[in-house]
Amino acid sequence: MTNRTARIYDVVIVGAGPAGLCAALYAGRGMLKAVTIERGAPGGELLNTDLIEDYIGFESIKGWELAQKMAEHAKKFGAEIVTDTVERIKRDADGWFDVQTARGDTYRTQAVILTAGGTPIKLGVPGEKEFAGKGVSYCAVCDGAFFKGERLAVVGGGDAAVEEADYLTRYASKVHLVHRRDDFRASKLLQERAFANPKIEVIRNTVVPEIVGNAKGVTHAVLEDNTTGARANLDVGGVFIFVGFKPNTQLVEGHVDHDAAGYLITDNRMMTSMAGLFAAGDVRSQVTRQITTAVGDATTAAIAVEKYLKSLREAQGDGKGTR
Ligand SMILES: Cc1cc2nc3c(=O)[nH]c(=O)nc-3n(C[C@H](O)[C@H](O)[C@H](O)COP(=O)(O)OP(=O)(O)OC[C@H]3O[C@@H](n4cnc5c(N)ncnc54)[C@H](O)[C@@H]3O)c2cc1C
Repeated sequence: MTNRTARIYDVVIVGAGPAGLCAALYAGRGMLKAVTIERGAPGGELLNTDLIEDYIGFESIKGWELAQKMAEHAKKFGAEIVTDTVERIKRDADGWFDVQTARGDTYRTQAVILTAGGTPIKLGVPGEKEFAGKGVSYCAVCDGAFFKGERLAVVGGGDAAVEEADYLTRYASKVHLVHRRDDFRASKLLQERAFANPKIEVIRNTVVPEIVGNAKGVTHAVLEDNTTGARANLDVGGVFIFVGFKPNTQLVEGHVDHDAAGYLITDNRMMTSMAGLFAAGDVRSQVTRQITTAVGDATTAAIAVEKYLKSLREAQGDGKGTR
């Protein structure tokens, strides 16, 4: 790792998914010196999404196309997007952050907007990767409408699995809720509601060791009884997997308040319990995770950063606050 001179910015945005790109746009409009650090191509989860049909203003748009439009729009307002992986975000005693990257660069700033998203936990079984976007999904709100009148499998036993199974019955003819244990971790209220739904069939003590399909998409899930090892095929057009979601928050050194699942808790400015660290989009503790909520959070965060820096600089009495 090379030791290069630290670069000083008003704000460092970590991740260039919808939230990061939107934060970059607003930071640019606010005339902040901002950099957005992205480990891959700009777009985040949009690049793993085929069709988007619920982003207001776009009746139907390919994920990659919306990603490109967002990146171009942010760049129009001067967004500087650097390709690198952030490895560590550390707040010093003087209130300045060191944002360190895999390429050995250090960015110094008084405000960080963390928009690093998260990753749905995978089952890791044959067919899951091959049919992702072709029947395998990790988002009911995003993909449920593509399965009108079909039979679906939902895998998992927590709140997300049970709630989303219930949600999916508005489209599916039948939802088979497959859980590896007898007891569900989901709250009792969610369980009661879902189990009373005549379109839901609960399959306990069962795992899905394989997802099978053809050129058109998923055709069935293989079920394996945990107790007997017996296998059977379940004919379904889609498999929705809700076995956990891991927010990318481990980059931050030191304690930041988070909820039980690890999502960062913010105030209404999107500031976390660590002064100067803002969080927007899928990393943030909230009711739903969508493109609209990600860009909404990011708008608030970028505008709040502007106000935060102004108040810091007024308090410091040095006009610009750089060093
Ligand atoms: C399969 C799928 C389909 C979906 N479909 C829809 C839909 O139809 N409609 C809808 O509204 N929502 C949909 N969603 C949800 C939506 O994509 C997310 O809510 C949204 O992308 C969140 O934006 P974000 O910017 O917070 O995070 P992300 O999109 O996850 O972006 C985070 C970015 O941070 C980068 N990053 C992470 N760690 C680092 C690091 N250490 N250094 C540098 N960069 C880093 C990542 O590479 C990524 O580009 C879907 C999600 C999935 C998984």
